[in-house]
Amino acid sequence: MKILIVEDERKTGDYLSQGLIEAGFVTDLARTGTDGVHHALHADYDLLVLDVMLPAVDGWEVLRRVRAAGKTMPVLFLTARDQVDDRVKGLELGADDYLVKPFAFSELLARVRTLLRRGTTREPERLHVADLELDLLRRRATRAGRRIDLTAKEFALLELLLRRQGEVLPRSLIASQVWDMNFDSDTNVIEVAVRRLRAKIDDDFEPKLLHTVRGMGYVLEPPEAA
Ligand code: CA
Repeated sequence: MKILIVEDERKTGDYLSQGLIEAGFVTDLARTGTDGVHHALHADYDLLVLDVMLPAVDGWEVLRRVRAAGKTMPVLFLTARDQVDDRVKGLELGADDYLVKPFAFSELLARVRTLLRRGTTREPERLHVADLELDLLRRRATRAGRRIDLTAKEFALLELLLRRQGEVLPRSLIASQVWDMNFDSDTNVIEVAVRRLRAKIDDDFEPKLLHTVRGMGYVLEPPEAA
């Protein structure tokens, strides 16, 4: 597990680096924000320990640049007591946790281990197959860049099909996942919904992505897999 520490205070940086090495981690130490961004973008780290108060490029800016570059590793912010109110800003920018200085090393280690256990795999914000994309945060669907208006149920249906793309989903599964209906309910509802969804995502486009597998269910997949 490799950790990047960005901390301008020499003593704190050395202390953190030493402690984490003794705890079995590999560490890199950056003493400026600029150096921190450079490291974060050019190597793979499992975690970032980031001081907020850095000269010139501060911790917020480091975090912003790291996230803008698509890096999703967890970030633990180190903040002074009088900056605690700023923690919301850090969490909004995509920090995963924060620790108020001064802190006991054991506390830092516990947070680090928790964040690493939680892992770097965040929920994806977008799902896609071929040129069809579903933006889960904005609740928006597009195909070939064109906006597609979906009802809430159609959105849920498409989300399920995208999450399990390439897999034939039986009507009963779709019924339980999207309509919260049980197995023997009227599956005509699903056929109608699939037909409407197909009209929106496939009718005006090539190649077709949503397929009916007779007697089995539906599958959403890119053409090369069909
Ligand atoms: Ca500092």
